[in-house]
Amino acid sequence: MRVVDANGIHIFQFESLEVGPVAHGIFARHGGVSPEPYASLNLSVSTGDSRENVRENRTRAFRALARAPDTVADLWQVHSADVIVADTPNGPHDYKGKADGLITDRPGVTLFLRFADCVPILLYDPRRPAVGVVHAGWRGTLLKACAAAVQAMRESYGTRPSDIVAAIGPSIGPCHYAVGPEVVAATRVVFAEAEALLQRVNGAYHLDLWQANAQALRAAGVEQVEVGEVCTACRRADFFSHRANGGRTGRFGALIGLR
Ligand SMILES: [Zn+2]
Repeated sequence: MRVVDANGIHIFQFESLEVGPVAHGIFARHGGVSPEPYASLNLSVSTGDSRENVRENRTRAFRALARAPDTVADLWQVHSADVIVADTPNGPHDYKGKADGLITDRPGVTLFLRFADCVPILLYDPRRPAVGVVHAGWRGTLLKACAAAVQAMRESYGTRPSDIVAAIGPSIGPCHYAVGPEVVAATRVVFAEAEALLQRVNGAYHLDLWQANAQALRAAGVEQVEVGEVCTACRRADFFSHRANGGRTGRFGALIGLR
């Protein structure tokens, strides 16, 4: 991934999305106003930071990508495979609903979700054009939330999966993601090539959420998948990590919108 520094806001970007009329980025934790344990560009009020800090941080993040904060469409994220079509913004203090995927074909709508180890997945159909964003932890990954978003783009926009450019952003990597036996068992039920996603490390199984989502996207017909391979637990100086920070931490943001 490429990193752009915009007035102290560090934006991680995908080469495959730097084409066409798309604004996108994953924001690292630098350049905001929040104190520890949310220092400093915390983009969520869900873990105890003040509304004023989060509002200022969100304004800085949106401006760094030349998006107006009042164009935001976002979600109350619930680890589901539900997808909402955003034809309009919901305003800075509201949500489109409880779900984990958002899609739009409107240039005046900026899709925005928050993360601290779960996987951000960005989708772009250059033909319509249309974009999408998905939040997937292990639950959303096993539910194939990314494939649900591809299906929603087919139904709403006539998107052909083979046209989609997909990108898998910073999240907990296979190096740090030990999982219990119930997740291992569920992975083997859901994924045809499960053994490629599971590694034994010091007696525990580690799950590769990046390749699991890439497998799910390919099975849904998506041919172009860029995996960022940035682990949030390895890169604690740059990203909030729920696991590596012991639960009490902030949330970083993933944004995509049509220009
Ligand atoms: Zn790691």
